[in-house]
Amino acid sequence: MKIKFLGVGSAFTTADYYQSNLLITAQSGKKLLLDCGSDIRFSLNEAGINAANFGREIEAVYISHLHSDHIGGLEWVAINTYFVPNSPPPKLFMNTATMEELWNHSLQGGLKCIKGKVMHLDDYFECFPISAENRFTWEAIDFTLWRMPHVMADSRNHYSYGLLMSETGGSPNVFISTDTQFQPEFLTHIHTEVGLIFHDVETTAFRTTVHAHYDELCTLPPEIKKKMWLYHYQPKPDRDPVKDGFNGFVVKGQEFDLC
Ligand SMILES: [Zn+2]
Repeated sequence: MKIKFLGVGSAFTTADYYQSNLLITAQSGKKLLLDCGSDIRFSLNEAGINAANFGREIEAVYISHLHSDHIGGLEWVAINTYFVPNSPPPKLFMNTATMEELWNHSLQGGLKCIKGKVMHLDDYFECFPISAENRFTWEAIDFTLWRMPHVMADSRNHYSYGLLMSETGGSPNVFISTDTQFQPEFLTHIHTEVGLIFHDVETTAFRTTVHAHYDELCTLPPEIKKKMWLYHYQPKPDRDPVKDGFNGFVVKGQEFDLC
């Protein structure tokens, strides 16, 4: 499998970095988009994918949570597959409750009504809600969802669902955090199961507290840091992750060939 970072920035990002959306290419050549932010049509084109042919280029989409840098491009994907001839609906994998919220609170404002028809999410996507087992398989890659604490509000945590990816008979396991607060106990556990960790990081002087901050990640033991690549950072981060024991900042367009 290959993992390509279409972008590496945060919600505050610019076109120099783009939002942190990833493209997974299976050994079959089929592609899964991991999160779909509002700049996806630009970041795909820059990565050499013809965004106008989304339905034919990309078979599946996984959504981690509902912030715009992760879902803001889905309305564009929906209409550019539904109305384009011979463009199959993308498969949509995500946590069941989050999928319901996606339609009820984000997408139906723009997608519910088209001429002469009331639409639903499964008119645009082939939906695969993931509930009890918290895992799915796509193109011989097993994806396990991990509920990561992200935003605490309204008396509950609004989670983001990170992914543990393992390829049948293939590359070492990989964990992708998506968006999460600092979780040292979890990282201590998961690092024994994986060869690589891609972790979101906040690099600003001010702290939003909804992401792990760079200074927090620096406190991790060396054996964890040496498996970590950092992404989802702010423009022009004034840090030296290699010196601090990490693999580095992922750069926009960087691809990891794990075959
Ligand atoms: Zn987020």
